[in-house]
Amino acid sequence: MAKTTTPVAREAAVPAGAVAVVDLLNSRAHGSLGDKLDALESAAVVLRPFGQDDGAPSAARLDLVRAVRSDLLELVAAPDGEDRAGNWAALSGRAASVTFRQEFAAPGLVQLRQTGGDPVVGGIVGAVAALVAAGDWSRVRLCANDHCRGAFYDSSRSRTRRWHSYEFCGNRTNVAAYRARRQS
Ligand SMILES: [Zn+2]
Repeated sequence: MAKTTTPVAREAAVPAGAVAVVDLLNSRAHGSLGDKLDALESAAVVLRPFGQDDGAPSAARLDLVRAVRSDLLELVAAPDGEDRAGNWAALSGRAASVTFRQEFAAPGLVQLRQTGGDPVVGGIVGAVAALVAAGDWSRVRLCANDHCRGAFYDSSRSRTRRWHSYEFCGNRTNVAAYRARRQS
């Protein structure tokens, strides 16, 4: 393959599953935003990437999704270095109704097909599992700006991004820190 002459992007593209998981985490009420799962229309948009059909999600499905979302939020909100085994166990328990089987289609082709449980919850569990298996779960984090706390996917090579957007949250934080230093 020919080498590209354009400058190499600092951040790789974010996988679709990661985008969907981040959107799910950000559907919670935070900042001035209400819970997107409270309205059927916005809930359907959040859940579509996980297999929600054109109809509205049922109350039972939304209850399950809220529970899984709060498990996932506890995982991403835990401070670095903290033992998260209990949180992963909680998620495993929550996802226990979701079952998959390996389906071999042709030599070299295998995929997991869901055989039990809510299909949308299965889609969420599958997306999280793919991130974990790829070693990319730790890229899902909450913005360091306390007024934001938006979830984001850190696609930087160094995995050290702290803000969901440097422009919106990073600069403001830097400016505030600079002002505080000058005042003291
Ligand atoms: Zn932010």
